[in-house]
Amino acid sequence: MSTDSGVRKTAFIHGNIITMDSEKPRAEAILVVGDRISGVGSDSEIEAFIDKGTEVIDLGWRTLVPGFIDCHAHPMGYGESLMAVDCRTPPVSSIQDMVAAIRRKAEEKPEGEWVIGVGYDDFKLTERRHPNRWDLDEAAPDNPIIITRMCGHVSVANSLALQMAGITKDSADPEGGQIDRDQETGEPTGVLRGSAMALLYKLIPPSDMEQLRRAFSLAAEQFLARGVTSVSDAGVDSPLVVRAYQAAIREDGVPLRVNLMMSAGILDELSRLGIQTGFGDERLRIGAIKIVADGSSSGRTAAVSEPYVDAPGNTGIMYISREELDEKVLASHKAGFQVGVHAIGDRAISAVLDSYEKALKELPRADHRLRIEHCGICTPAIVERIRGMGVVPVPQPIFLYGEGESYRAGLGEERVKWAYPLRSFLENGIVTPMSSDCPATSGTELISPLLGIYVAVTRKTDSGRELGPEQRIGVEDALKCYTLNSAYATFEDDVKGSIEPGKLADFAVLSEDPTRIAEGKIKDVYAEMTVVGGRVVYTRP
Ligand SMILES: [Zn+2]
Repeated sequence: MSTDSGVRKTAFIHGNIITMDSEKPRAEAILVVGDRISGVGSDSEIEAFIDKGTEVIDLGWRTLVPGFIDCHAHPMGYGESLMAVDCRTPPVSSIQDMVAAIRRKAEEKPEGEWVIGVGYDDFKLTERRHPNRWDLDEAAPDNPIIITRMCGHVSVANSLALQMAGITKDSADPEGGQIDRDQETGEPTGVLRGSAMALLYKLIPPSDMEQLRRAFSLAAEQFLARGVTSVSDAGVDSPLVVRAYQAAIREDGVPLRVNLMMSAGILDELSRLGIQTGFGDERLRIGAIKIVADGSSSGRTAAVSEPYVDAPGNTGIMYISREELDEKVLASHKAGFQVGVHAIGDRAISAVLDSYEKALKELPRADHRLRIEHCGICTPAIVERIRGMGVVPVPQPIFLYGEGESYRAGLGEERVKWAYPLRSFLENGIVTPMSSDCPATSGTELISPLLGIYVAVTRKTDSGRELGPEQRIGVEDALKCYTLNSAYATFEDDVKGSIEPGKLADFAVLSEDPTRIAEGKIKDVYAEMTVVGGRVVYTRP
């Protein structure tokens, strides 16, 4: 244990410490020197190193775990959503509520300025349907409006916004997208799916640097307050966003650690500069290249091999051709990047595995950690292929909480047993991280790792009903998924994810020990304190 003088020293004592280090799974105390863990042991072992320069934090026998690592989220988008009209269902319960909230926002804005809403879930609205252009016209006919479903794959625009985008009765559906139409008149209803959303999104002036910087700070506060100390932004494609992260982290001192997954669209620029996965430092670094293969399950746009039970004939949408997928995967892999492809339906997952197989054949790499983002609707054959190839699935069990009943309705009881099959992954020795995909989830609690862990452990939806209970995993395993395995998913398990000497001193202090309470209570556990690099960055008020 090192004790150089002049360096900040902190001792965390009297703790119920869950280390995620298999050699020493529990401890009472930790010595931190600078931003690293220097020693882990019993109180008496660590107390021997305390001198007058050491700050001592008495944990009062509370539970301390490694800081949670959310290896797939959208912190910038989440931060922006915290600034947009909140259409999440709940707190919104009906289209009428939503219209009222949009009207209030529009009243603060001049005519013609965009009103943006996020997070609605048609499945949970009283009306059980998507809002349409006419509903939104009622809220504000003189401002263009776009609201996006919580999955991020379906949006609704009002008439003015459709008109600005030139979308009429005669517009053809774009490749990989759909413009919903009124069955009788053929008029667009305002509901836009997949790539059709881009027809509108491209008209919205992007957030400026100050807005983005603020958005990230707002999001970071929320993550840190839930014990999350590292997050990956699963899809960055603008220099402004990269700059905003730098400014927020380096100038504003936001302590949340960030991995940037870069969109495949800017691969050429990155490789021209020689940038590869891992570029950066422990606070802000470049991660994988992100590619999107299909849509979402709850939006019925995930590409499945058998039609959805409640949408006969619909097998979802592949957003990308097989050739293009092969090409992008290979180019990213060759350029020295880890690759993460968004694939939720089994048809999309199989296509991604095919592309990975080809890329690895052309350029074998032993430790590739090629990722499949979400990897939602699996089959035994898919799990076997993932195991054999050493691919990292990146599932979000939290989806099964707010959207589990929608999954059940879309997939039926048999197929849903293979939705986010964590137990099958772990039993096959597949290193499985956990993450939130926030804000692409339904409900009011979007980022709580403890809620994700609760769902992984109980397989219960927010209705309290079980969903594929065969896939339940143990609490300790779930904690490992959200810490050490998530560090593995970003190639950072050498510096984070467990409490071991030499690793970064990132911790979450919890209100209760999730391994020692009734399963049903895990979701109510909260972070009382969050530590990043040995510094306390959040304390529950
Ligand atoms: Zn995502």
